[in-house]
Amino acid sequence: MTIQWYPGHMAKAKRQVQEKLNLIDVVIEVVDARIPLSSRNPLVDELIRQKPKLVLINKSDLADPEATKKWVDYFEQDEMTSLIIDAQRGKGMNLIPGKVRELATPLLEKWERKGINPRPLRTLILGIPNVGKSTVINKLANKKIARIGDRPGVTKAQQWIKVGKEMELLDTPGILWPKFEDEQVGFRLALTGAIKEEIFDFQAATVFLLRFLTANYPTLLKNRYQLTELSDDMGDMFDAIGKRRGCLMGGGLVDYDRVAEIVFRDFRQGKFGNISLELPPND
Ligand code: GDP
Repeated sequence: MTIQWYPGHMAKAKRQVQEKLNLIDVVIEVVDARIPLSSRNPLVDELIRQKPKLVLINKSDLADPEATKKWVDYFEQDEMTSLIIDAQRGKGMNLIPGKVRELATPLLEKWERKGINPRPLRTLILGIPNVGKSTVINKLANKKIARIGDRPGVTKAQQWIKVGKEMELLDTPGILWPKFEDEQVGFRLALTGAIKEEIFDFQAATVFLLRFLTANYPTLLKNRYQLTELSDDMGDMFDAIGKRRGCLMGGGLVDYDRVAEIVFRDFRQGKFGNISLELPPND
């Protein structure tokens, strides 16, 4: 389920995250490995201020592994600690408690100096819709707790989930909205399922995708539609794919809407192979 965001929702979501943050030692931000920047809300850093943060680069099973490695370096250069995970299969998740502890070292040292008995570190999963927050919580809890597709504004008593002896996790995630900085960000969010497809122009999103694939993953694109060559002319590309897929209208004309829908769906379903839609800036 994808949420439609209006100013009222945004203000409420922000307030709810702020309230949760009061209880938190370490923030865990989940991003989509295919679009690690476009799937962040820039408010996160402003909201959490100086609190330590771990970035989980999730859905790595769908992304291009080379690009994902570059993203880890990118975050590191920005002094952010990140971990590559696949929450659906539980890959990489066993490293989370150790990283959280590492990030909380200053706090643990402060407790020690003050003679305070250490308690488990309190963490919150935070991110925009559909990046896999609930899946992460359920995997860490080892059972089904967070409803998949949990909505902001649904109040229920919050509980701490124990993750090992030294970490606790709030059972409901903090949800922020995606930013629509520019059209490209919007296309990336639509293609990866972070925003409703109905609010999107299929053809425009597909043109964006085809141009991106032509530039970055030409072989995957050719293979998918058995194309011998690619063209910069999008009309030609739509025609070629349409003919391959039998999207013809009367008079032998290609039905562009159907082509767009097919290509868009193929991407959503991972039919092209492992693709990242965003590379680190200056790469
Ligand atoms: P939330 O809105 O951030 O809580 O996201 P969900 O946990 O509801 O996940 C959104 C969708 O992404 C669901 O269909 C999940 O099954 C799927 N998902 C979550 N993590 C992964 C992952 O690592 N890999 C893949 N392929 N899908 C994932």
